[in-house]
Amino acid sequence: MTTETFEFQVEARQLLQLMIHSVYSNKDVFLRELVSNASDALDKLRLEKLRDDSLDADVSDLHIEIDVDKEARTLTVRDNGIGMSYDEVGRLIGTIANSGTAAFLQELREAQEGGGAEGLIGQFGVGFYSGFMVADEVTLVTRRAGEDQGTRWSSRGEATYTLEKVDDAPQGTSVTLHLKPADPENQLHDYTSEWTIREIVKRYSDFITWPIRMVPADHDGDGAPAPETLNSMKALWARSRDEVSDDEYHELYKHISHDWREPLETIRLQAEGTFEYQSLLFIPAHAPHDLFTRDFKRGVQLYVKRVFIMDDCEALLPPYLRFVKGVVDAQDLSLNVSREILQQDRHIRMMQRRLTKKVLSTVKDLMTKDAERYATFWREFGTVLKEGLVTDPDNRDALLAVASFATTHSEDEPTTLAGYVERMKDGQDAVYYITGESRQSIENSPHLEAFRAKGIEVLLLTDPVDEVWADAVGEYEGKKLRSVTKGEIDLDGEGEEKAGEEREKQAEEYAGLLGWMREQLDEDIKEVRLSTRLTVSPACVVSDAHDLTPALENMYRAMGQEVPRTKRILELNPGHPLVKGLNQAYNDRADRSELAESAELLHALAVLAEGGQPKDPAKFVRAVSERLERTL
Ligand code: ADP
Repeated sequence: MTTETFEFQVEARQLLQLMIHSVYSNKDVFLRELVSNASDALDKLRLEKLRDDSLDADVSDLHIEIDVDKEARTLTVRDNGIGMSYDEVGRLIGTIANSGTAAFLQELREAQEGGGAEGLIGQFGVGFYSGFMVADEVTLVTRRAGEDQGTRWSSRGEATYTLEKVDDAPQGTSVTLHLKPADPENQLHDYTSEWTIREIVKRYSDFITWPIRMVPADHDGDGAPAPETLNSMKALWARSRDEVSDDEYHELYKHISHDWREPLETIRLQAEGTFEYQSLLFIPAHAPHDLFTRDFKRGVQLYVKRVFIMDDCEALLPPYLRFVKGVVDAQDLSLNVSREILQQDRHIRMMQRRLTKKVLSTVKDLMTKDAERYATFWREFGTVLKEGLVTDPDNRDALLAVASFATTHSEDEPTTLAGYVERMKDGQDAVYYITGESRQSIENSPHLEAFRAKGIEVLLLTDPVDEVWADAVGEYEGKKLRSVTKGEIDLDGEGEEKAGEEREKQAEEYAGLLGWMREQLDEDIKEVRLSTRLTVSPACVVSDAHDLTPALENMYRAMGQEVPRTKRILELNPGHPLVKGLNQAYNDRADRSELAESAELLHALAVLAEGGQPKDPAKFVRAVSERLERTL
């Protein structure tokens, strides 16, 4: 047979280099990765045979086998699972399929310089490549179940790999590592030692539901030695809590998630009764890179009576919990169940509700018991969870209870809504918030001036989804959620009649200017009025309570929806010298074209102050420059 040589895809090559120069100090995990792949391959074969009985494959003794050859210094992990076709080997092993890989590698290189690379590896399915941490050559022989011909893949981890068709390959896959020379300093990690292998399997792969066998090399009696099964094969989710250690749970998490780090939280739920199921869910400690991409694989693994049915079963959790990993094992579903059926199944919907509640109550517990871990959770997943405030009204209260937000009350400590309400001033009847791109850009917004002056707390919301949910939710415990940039704001409590009288007087004084300015700015502004929000700035723009804000307008346009341009409201600060002067000039019937330009400039300044763009930046700059010139 002919051997063909291929080049690794660039990203794959970079990843291999990282493996060879081993950024990961715990090399033992390579075995976990190979066993994990083998286990998946067995799951897949069983499932395929279940769906198509005519598949010409032997499923009578599905298992994983580990062989050690001390003399040749090789270690082989073999499975009789689904295997790969010639094309699949090239596609799956020669390239890295994940779309986020380039970004990931970049981050990995940076982290490596900073010494933090360990945690990053493994998120992107580098599983098979991890063999190169301990081997200087890797050979893989595989035959896809139902096909006649097998394939041999081989590489020394450099720029190329070879592919060759072989005739006598058994069903499934065997991966042979040609181990690097032994390190005399480090006997514990001698991978030709059966004892070492046994320990590693026990430690990382005990829960694998297929037998992992090893044929002992050193045996006393005659004849062929009997293979030994190294793992207990017990499905962790079916065992009781006190039988399973945290480490064991964590290894299952790593197997499922391809994340090499510990999860933040483990959640167990065993439901008895008419629709029985067991589940073991994990909240990762880090949000994956592609959490907000369209093709993010969401959902947990579905098993039926211990038989693996599918990955990424999206029917089991709502989209806003798409970061949760784990296993759900249902007793009363058909093994042939499809995604379409699951979407409509009444029991599955009940299950989803129950699992959702369980995840949310776990977060709530975390919040009350472990502030630091809760903070990690919210930092990583808060943005996703907030989607639920819009899409899942049933769990709105539970979601609001675990949400936290940046606030003017503190530089760095976020607040819960409950915390905010506790600090509310006497007579304050709303929870105030401001939205924008970053804390920095909104913290000094003119809209906050009066709030600051009166010591009223405002939530600083900087996620794109914030405007949407705040609008949709509307209130918290009977208190309206109010944007400080929308509608009229009246911060003067009762008993401030004087302030009221004062305002009436001002309204009369300014009536002429306000009406005239509205006409001048008609294209963009539907009303010009005196402000109660401003103490320092001359002007700001606000929206009507039910108007779309500019950010939302832009968002809808970006999604391809047509939305009419919403005119906004210009508010003037009657206490500001600039505004006073303008009124004076108006009443004195000064040069109206000069005055018209001033009105436009004031409007542009207000737009700039909230982070917007003047309509005609060049014209704005020209006008300001001319006026500056005159002051020199
Ligand atoms: P990951 O397991 O994270 O997808 P790997 O690089 O370990 O990444 O494997 C890439 C792919 O190669 C797997 O998704 C699987 O399709 C295939 N593969 C790896 N090992 C085996 C195996 N033992 N049997 C069948 N297919 C395998």
